[in-house]
Amino acid sequence: MNCLSNDEVVHVKENGIEYIQFKRLLEYEDRITHCFTLKPLDFKIENNNNKVLNEYDKICKALEIDSKNLYRPSQTHSNNVKCVNDEEPGIYTKEFQEVDGLITDKTDKILSLTFADCTPLFFFEPVKNVIGNIHSGWRGTYQEIAKTAVRKFVTDYGVNVKDLICVIGPSICGKCFEVDEEIAKQFADKFNEANGFRNIVKKFDNKNKYLIDTELINRVILNREGLSNKNIISCGLCTKCFSAYMHSVREDGEKAGRNTALIMLK
Ligand SMILES: [Zn+2]
Repeated sequence: MNCLSNDEVVHVKENGIEYIQFKRLLEYEDRITHCFTLKPLDFKIENNNNKVLNEYDKICKALEIDSKNLYRPSQTHSNNVKCVNDEEPGIYTKEFQEVDGLITDKTDKILSLTFADCTPLFFFEPVKNVIGNIHSGWRGTYQEIAKTAVRKFVTDYGVNVKDLICVIGPSICGKCFEVDEEIAKQFADKFNEANGFRNIVKKFDNKNKYLIDTELINRVILNREGLSNKNIISCGLCTKCFSAYMHSVREDGEKAGRNTALIMLK
């Protein structure tokens, strides 16, 4: 297979730059720009920030947006979600420390978060014209950052949750995400059947390994917060299963790069 396109996803390849877009968000192409980048683009910040800035220039050029308007928070697996208003854009600027989710109703603000197995949540609310970009790794999922985000859409922007669309981007799937007994137990205790969850934690083998379906947990959280099932869209792509295309910490180890999710109101 040399293409990730499916019922929900369009795989774009132009001039050596590859990314995916979601059909549900492309319906609003006149109002929002978005993508999830693919290899070889790599947004991991190490010693050489210039390399990452160059990567942003490439993807922004492909999307015909200005990389100067980029907001990238320093993600720490928190459940902190922050609204973007008129702060200075940039990478890890002081207003956006320890932030794992961004929301805005302002145009020309590129909300940018990075991922390598964690769950990206792209939000769009077409009535009030509000977008969000949320990083829900297993820690963020455990802390229900999706719930924090949805409530912020309601309290800060007066959004009706029935109008809110969430596309769940590529993340490690429920067949690939192995955890040890301690983490499995935390999840099983919090998201248990008595609370209406099903099959979120599964025993994997006889070596005390378990599998967790973080996408499913996020779906249930979003559904409980009032989003309609038809407005919660899974892209059907696992970063580890498709690690030839996407950076995956579980597949590539500590040297893994980072994919970036971008969304902007035009
Ligand atoms: Zn997988």
